[in-house]
Amino acid sequence: MRFDILTLFPESIDRFLNESIIGRAREKGILDIRTVNIRDFSEDKHRKTDDYPYGGGSGMVMTPQPIYDAWKSIVEEAGYRPKTIYMSPQGRLFNQEIARELKEEKHIIILCGHYEGVDERVLEEIVDDEISIGDYVLTGGELPAMVLIDCVSRLVDGVLGAKDAYANESHYDGLLEYPQYTRPPEFMGRKVPEVLLSGHHANIEKWRYLQMLERTKARRPDLFAIYEEKNRDRVMEAYGLLPRKRRRKKPDGESHGE
Ligand code: SAM
Repeated sequence: MRFDILTLFPESIDRFLNESIIGRAREKGILDIRTVNIRDFSEDKHRKTDDYPYGGGSGMVMTPQPIYDAWKSIVEEAGYRPKTIYMSPQGRLFNQEIARELKEEKHIIILCGHYEGVDERVLEEIVDDEISIGDYVLTGGELPAMVLIDCVSRLVDGVLGAKDAYANESHYDGLLEYPQYTRPPEFMGRKVPEVLLSGHHANIEKWRYLQMLERTKARRPDLFAIYEEKNRDRVMEAYGLLPRKRRRKKPDGESHGE
């Protein structure tokens, strides 16, 4: 999967691109992530990329020409028009579902704004989607772009290894993840739950699922309500609330559920 990041501050992104999981996936060629410095495309003799807002007001606005030319250079090199996203506090709120949707794209261009934002006309010309990482305002689009790329990249085949690595995580299925424990078995008098040391996989799965339900109910009742609505039977079964199933007589007279 390829990402091109249009930014005035490529150096603020470079370290993130070379680190950890993203860095390794780039080395393996699974991810192709490039930064494009908008300033390199400015036709202004001082390489200016911003100007005062028409109508007055504080701050500066990013001018359309360098952004458009930087974007066009990617489109021309690619030979097609990749999906273009503008990171913006006015966009649709980013979540795991949107990450899954974006993972299906083979190439995404991300525009990072700065100052008071970007001239509206270039947004109208090049942007297909606006995405916000939360209802707050940051200084620039670079951190939001890194959040989006990190989250989408984890879902790309081969980046994390096994699918399990993300399929059990919070938000994948609409629930928060169960609590995690590692060595030692006792820390500051707190013991690892017995069931996790039992080696009984079915019981461990059952315990983890109940923990996911309980955690989500306590911490994110909004998410729990949505999940419960879609998975009523499974939730009731986990809590032992499903009506008893038809019972069959065993030859020795004992009965057991089907
Ligand atoms: N004046 C703009 C407004 O009120 O909507 C905010 C501009 S903000 C200071 C500068 C840039 O940071 C934006 O153009 C955008 O690229 C980025 N940005 C800020 N907050 C963001 C958020 N919550 N999600 C995504 N991008 C954000």
